Formats: sequence, structure tokens, C-alpha cells
Amino acid sequence: MNIVLLGAPGSGKGTQASLISEKYSLPHISTGDMFRENIREKTPLGVLAKTYIDKGQLCPDDVTEKMVAERLSRADCKNGFLLDGFPRTIAQAQALEEIAAVDVVLDIDVPLGKLLKRLTGRRCCEKCGESFHVDSIGNATQCPKCGGKLYVRADDNEETVQSRLDVYVKQTESLVEYYKNKGVLRRVDGDKAVEEVFAEVEKVLKNL
Ligand code: AMP
Repeated sequence: MNIVLLGAPGSGKGTQASLISEKYSLPHISTGDMFRENIREKTPLGVLAKTYIDKGQLCPDDVTEKMVAERLSRADCKNGFLLDGFPRTIAQAQALEEIAAVDVVLDIDVPLGKLLKRLTGRRCCEKCGESFHVDSIGNATQCPKCGGKLYVRADDNEETVQSRLDVYVKQTESLVEYYKNKGVLRRVDGDKAVEEVFAEVEKVLKNL
């Protein structure tokens, strides 16, 4: 099964992606994680991506599409994949169609007004990649799941978050309509507890 996870930054896509990936044994492909890995390793792609990510803008379609195409060509994607954070533009969606058919697009829907608080209070684990909110973990510096060190993502500051949300509305939200017209979109209410959202995701996937 080829799944695309759609949703604004902070909608909980990454968290749901980890759960889906584990339960359905699908490779979790997060373009944000791939860019961050390149930034850490200071590759030419990372150096380029950083200039966009730091401003809360999208990286160029051509480099993003190339990175995804290479990843999807690997053996572990033969029986399906789970895309998290790609596509983010209509051009990327069209590029994906050239590579693979999408079986379902899960739109994790959270009211825009709630996302700023979700993102600016987010803490991520260096080791397992899981993210948490200060409302539930307080000042913890270690991951409640694996004990790894927690950090604040460089693009989770208020100014960058605001431009990421603007970019979502301007460039990504139109994908909801795009995939609705293709008959593959399923909306999931993301404004609930993680387990409740996942239960809804499971229901959708079961009824496909
Ligand atoms: P994310 O971890 O999904 O929130 O992505 C972090 C940042 O990586 C985004 O704000 C973009 O700058 C960049 N990025 C991730 N995925 C894409 C994509 N599909 N197209 C362009 N830029 C992306």
C-alpha cells in the first residue's frame, strides 16, 4: 500500500507516521527528516536545504523530487511506502505520479489556530525522532519513550513557524482538493489524543 500523509506542520503527521509504519510494516519516508540528516552531515544538499528550512520556506521542487525518487527506488519500497511531508506542491504530486500510484492520502486535519502553540511547544528526540509537547512533558530534557536527548527544532521558533504555516496555506493546502478530485483523500480529525487519531487512521485503512 502506498500512503501519503497530508496535514499542516504540527498536525501530528510524524507521530501518526511512526505508528502506521510500525503497524503496517511500511518504510516511513519523511522529507523533513531526510533534509535534516543532510544538514547534520553537511552534504551539498543539506547546505542548500538549510537556506530554505531556516526561513520556513519550501526547498525547491527539483531537488526534493530527486531525493524522493531515489529513496522510492530502494528495495524496501517495493511493497509500499508511507510518505510524510511529500508532496507539498501540486508539481511534486505530479512528479510522484510519474513514479508510483498513491492508494490513499490521509489528511490529518487540525484547526490552523492551534498549530502555532503545538509547534512552538514541541520537543523532539535526537535518538528516536519522536516528538512531544511541553504541556505533557514539562521541562523534561530526556525522551519519555527511549531516554534520548530532547531538543527544539531550529525551525520551531515563532517567526519561522508562522512562515511555515503561511507556506502551507499558500502552497500545500490545495493538495487536499487535488487528491479529493482523484478520489483518494480521506480526512482524519487530528484535533484529538494521539491514540484516538490513530484509531481513526486504522479504521480508514481497514475500510479501503
Ligand atoms: P517537516 O519536517 O516536514 O516539517 O519539514 C521541515 C522543512 O523541510 C520544511 O519547512 C521545508 O523547508 C522542508 N521540506 C520538507 N518536505 C518538503 C517538501 N516536500 N518540499 C519542499 N520542502 C520540504
